[in-house]
Amino acid sequence: MVAHRMKAYAQSSSWIRRMFEEGTRLKAIHGPDRVYDFSLGNPDVPPPPQVLEAMAAHARGMSHGYMANAGYPEVRAQVAAHASKMYGVDLAAEDIIMTCGAGGGLNVVLKAILDPGDEVVAIAPYFVEYGFYAENHGGRLVAVACDETFLPDAERIRKALTARTKALIINSPNNPSGRVYPRGILENLAHVLADHPQVLLISDEPYRGIVYDGHEVPSVLAVSPNTVVVTSASKELSLAGQRIGYIALSPQVSEREELLGAMVLATRILGFVNAPALMQRVYAECLNERVDVALYARRRDALRAIFDASGLSYAPPEGTFYLFVKSPLQDETVFCQELLKERILAVPGRGFGYPGYVRFAYCVDERTITGASPGIGRVMERL
Ligand code: PLP
Repeated sequence: MVAHRMKAYAQSSSWIRRMFEEGTRLKAIHGPDRVYDFSLGNPDVPPPPQVLEAMAAHARGMSHGYMANAGYPEVRAQVAAHASKMYGVDLAAEDIIMTCGAGGGLNVVLKAILDPGDEVVAIAPYFVEYGFYAENHGGRLVAVACDETFLPDAERIRKALTARTKALIINSPNNPSGRVYPRGILENLAHVLADHPQVLLISDEPYRGIVYDGHEVPSVLAVSPNTVVVTSASKELSLAGQRIGYIALSPQVSEREELLGAMVLATRILGFVNAPALMQRVYAECLNERVDVALYARRRDALRAIFDASGLSYAPPEGTFYLFVKSPLQDETVFCQELLKERILAVPGRGFGYPGYVRFAYCVDERTITGASPGIGRVMERL
């Protein structure tokens, strides 16, 4: 019954899943408090109180029926006003499409632009779902390695672009590396893309609001004309299960009207029909709210201190809630096995197209971090 392709996906996507299953097994044997699970990027910090208040306030007063596929016009207008300030470009309500999270938004964009055989370039390490999303719409993912500082290398990207390339996906702050791309890097990419007008730059930004040490995420829309931004409330408001986000199209994007029409149609026919009604209302009211980023910063620092003491190095953790740690063994899956012996779960970098590193998600409570410390020390002694 199950398609061969889905079986193959289940095999290839299974690093995070395998770790999750291993975690469940270990928790059943040893108890949840004695398993240190850093495998999942599922926010555990509560949503800001304003979000919960808006949920309760809107649930009774609003219509719960179908709406225009792109979302409530007044919500799109509120999001456009907010996004115009944030990105430093003038966006109208028509430049915004409400989506079922960033994942839904990325699928809408790719459905709108891909024909069978088209290529989508992404920068490794990357969010593994990009490959599945591209294939959902007949496309193919082409991974280009980042430079040694975890930033995109414009020349490598230039070499990877072909007549079949329809999109370049970038993700900053980056999952899994935690890096924030500086404006100069975005300008280099814009320069390369200026020679490839058929390539849409897709900036996947669900972690924009989770940055540390004064880092700011530069606006891609202000730098590159042929661009869409896709984002969500999943991480910034800890609403991953509520499925709300939006696409913002640059007013300068090529074939803007046609592209907008294709995305609205994609929203309808992919099966979502529209973004969740209640969450649109809530999101529009809470666009300036954020989860407690200082809490993530404290956890990051606690985990860094453990890695520093153990002699482990990692990518500069400027944003997100991930630390991407260089494996002390060439094969990082063996390092993960060693960590597992101490009941510590982390995801091998090859799950993100980047072997040799391991991702630790620190959206976990402090006890998990301090509890993992002796085990990490023992692994490093053994190695
Ligand atoms: N893009 C990146 C880089 C992610 O890490 C995630 C989720 O982990 C998503 C997109 C999907 O987010 P959403 O829950 O908004 O669909």
